[in-house]
Amino acid sequence: MDDLVKKVKLLRALGQKTGTCFQRCVGWDGINAVYSVAYEMDRKNKTDYLERFQKWLTYIQEENLMVVGAMTDPKGDRSRGPAEQADPDQYVHIVERRPDGVVIRGAKLHMTGGVNSHEILVMPTTALDEKAKDYAVVCAIPVNAPGVTMIFGRQTGDDRRDRKERIDSGKPSFGAVGGEAVIAFEDVFVPKERVFMDGETEFTGLLVYRFAAHHRANYGGCKTGLIDVLTGAVGYLTQIQGTGKASHVRDKITEMIHLGETLYSSSIACAAEGTPTPSGAFLVDTMLANVCKQNVTRYHFEVARLAVDLAGGFLATLPSEYDLKNENIGHLVKKYFSGVAEIPAEDRIKIGRLIEAMTGGTALVESMHGAGSPQAQRVMILREGNLDKKIQLAKALAGIPPRRVKKAEARA
Ligand code: SF4
Ligand code: FE
Repeated sequence: MDDLVKKVKLLRALGQKTGTCFQRCVGWDGINAVYSVAYEMDRKNKTDYLERFQKWLTYIQEENLMVVGAMTDPKGDRSRGPAEQADPDQYVHIVERRPDGVVIRGAKLHMTGGVNSHEILVMPTTALDEKAKDYAVVCAIPVNAPGVTMIFGRQTGDDRRDRKERIDSGKPSFGAVGGEAVIAFEDVFVPKERVFMDGETEFTGLLVYRFAAHHRANYGGCKTGLIDVLTGAVGYLTQIQGTGKASHVRDKITEMIHLGETLYSSSIACAAEGTPTPSGAFLVDTMLANVCKQNVTRYHFEVARLAVDLAGGFLATLPSEYDLKNENIGHLVKKYFSGVAEIPAEDRIKIGRLIEAMTGGTALVESMHGAGSPQAQRVMILREGNLDKKIQLAKALAGIPPRRVKKAEARA
């Protein structure tokens, strides 16, 4: 449990230093999920997945390798399951079993950190039934294995970085978001010792559930780090603009801090309420993890709204770094984008660009859809919310005695 709490603190600290998604956590969460499920598969089926997994994990840790947790399949026609697709490659699946390993085909989309990783930990994207046995595959693949292709995502403002407009990129040292990529597997051979699930469909739901919970629990850590930076950026900008002491400004900054700390407390709660799985590895509280991520889909947007509100319209009309440094017009940019006398105009422009980078485009999309879209959390919240128990509590307090409900009434 202590490890889980420390992880949240680390995520917040890394968010503060990078102002973006720093990507290692997806592999981290995949490792935790696969470890605990491999233990349970072995116990039930007398397989040796955990031993294989531990060997690979030791290698990863000794070499300090980065792992991309690869779960999201393209899914093709969403009204059909993996085994019913017109194109069977819409979900990653085994196309050949050999004595020394398996051959897989398919793709994983939106792979955070894909291009920055050394290893890909492939996991199924959904709970599978018996018909989809070939889709129940967990395995580890080096990014340079023959047949692996990565297609890097286009991100907001990346051409500004390409053109070396350092100020205009907002965060000169770090990218917009997590280096997302499509990872395609065109008949990739995976040796047996790197296969950690092969056909055990009954464990796929558990694996997805645990991975999703671990990953959703992160967001009140990493995104709170980003919110800290954004709040600081707005705080400094209001000082530059001479509005820092206005009561409505202080109130809005208070609200930004409040929302950030609310998300953080949610992540800490997921960890503190964690429980051991049969393997001994701890799992976060799954209900609180879904609540945490659901709140991120709202509060990060509200924090961004307040930041843009306080920053002002100049975010949308700022001249470029070229104009700032241009010998003919640079003096005009400096003169008319200045604030209080003692702070250079360049600070205001830099902070404006930072706020622009952290409130637009890809960053907020990740808060909405990373670790699963909001509806995925709502499904879990209702499923785990134990409504029947809550009804019993209400009835007991209202003095309604327990009674047998006729079948027809229950259906209604
Ligand atoms: Fe880690 Fe996901 Fe947060 Fe990125 S968005 S820093 S991968 S938890
Ligand atoms: Fe992501």
